[in-house]
Amino acid sequence: VRVLGIETSCDDTAAAVVTGDGLLVSETNRHQHSVHAAYGGIVPGLAAVHHQANLPLVLRETLQRASLSIGDIDAVAVTRGPGMAASLGVGVAAAKALAAVHGLPLIGVHHMEAHALMARMGREDVVQFPFLCVLVSGGHTMTLVAHDVNSYTTIGSTRDDSVGEAFDKVARDLGLPWPDTQDGGGLGPALEQIALRGDAQRFPLPVPMDKSTSALSPDFSFSGLKTHVRRMREAGAFDPLVAQDQADVAAAFQRAAVAHLRKKTALACRHARAMGVNITCLVASGGVASNAAVREALADVAAKEGVPLECPPPRLCTDNGVMIAWAGVERLRRGLLDPYTFDFIQRWPLDTLKEMPYPARV
Ligand code: ATP
Ligand code: FE
Repeated sequence: VRVLGIETSCDDTAAAVVTGDGLLVSETNRHQHSVHAAYGGIVPGLAAVHHQANLPLVLRETLQRASLSIGDIDAVAVTRGPGMAASLGVGVAAAKALAAVHGLPLIGVHHMEAHALMARMGREDVVQFPFLCVLVSGGHTMTLVAHDVNSYTTIGSTRDDSVGEAFDKVARDLGLPWPDTQDGGGLGPALEQIALRGDAQRFPLPVPMDKSTSALSPDFSFSGLKTHVRRMREAGAFDPLVAQDQADVAAAFQRAAVAHLRKKTALACRHARAMGVNITCLVASGGVASNAAVREALADVAAKEGVPLECPPPRLCTDNGVMIAWAGVERLRRGLLDPYTFDFIQRWPLDTLKEMPYPARV
């Protein structure tokens, strides 16, 4: 089978065609970074306008690149949520019309399930259920047990900022310029780069939630770390115009953030065991999972658990159409289809998936 996946939940207009064997047939991703860069954040109304303008061309390009026509497609998958309402609406409306006109099965995909399942594409023999998943992205930071497709239990999640947000805000406080590349990923990669030249000992930053009762919680917290760096800058503890200062603060921040991720992931593994779940591997996905220091720390946790760490290739850790198409394949196989009348869901906890009425009547 060939599934067409459409992603418009945030600022990427993306589409891809993936086969049931996990082969990537075709992919297009149009970013809007330059559109929003001037505002210092994503402007929802503008994002929707650009999705409207770009999606038809992105779809056309995705098919044309692989010399496909809609007749070669067996199902349409689309991000149903969570995300920005106006943006989700563009992708969902397009997918519904396309599927309805051609009489194709329609699959509404939970964006975070797609991040989690991405590691299984073409590797289902290795990445088997149940597994423990660490989702570290721009909007989420969480650990969860993936029992099966459509069945997840969250163990820990962030009490404030996501780790990706913290990377972005600290990078901004360090005066790092917004990248003008066409790759996704915000400012995280730039911070990772300069941290390589830094001395993490010069500005020791505390590891979040490391004391007393909060040390026992599997939850995350990144706003304290972010604020710590901002206060240091305000107090003149470092000069963002001095390259060595930039590098040393970046290294210190990354070290504390990575130590936090490591500790809470190890704790999540213990929680999973206490739930009676025997995980087959540790999966990390989302933009921050492309960070080498993060991967190294998580590989360490996995090794101590006696399981492998599995991550999608860095390019597929950030938002893309491939993960939506692949999640579509996984859901199609299990008959988890949606009616042509379904709507997007702006706020949608992953744990509630298993309680939704599936298979829906088509
Ligand atoms: P969500 O899926 O939660 O809605 P998102 O899809 O927008 O969020 P992603 O595209 O998965 O988020 O990830 C983007 C985030 O990852 C940004 O905050 C970016 O700074 C961070 N990031 C990307 N690459 C790296 C890296 N190498 N090191 C640290 N952070 C990174
Ligand atoms: Fe995402």
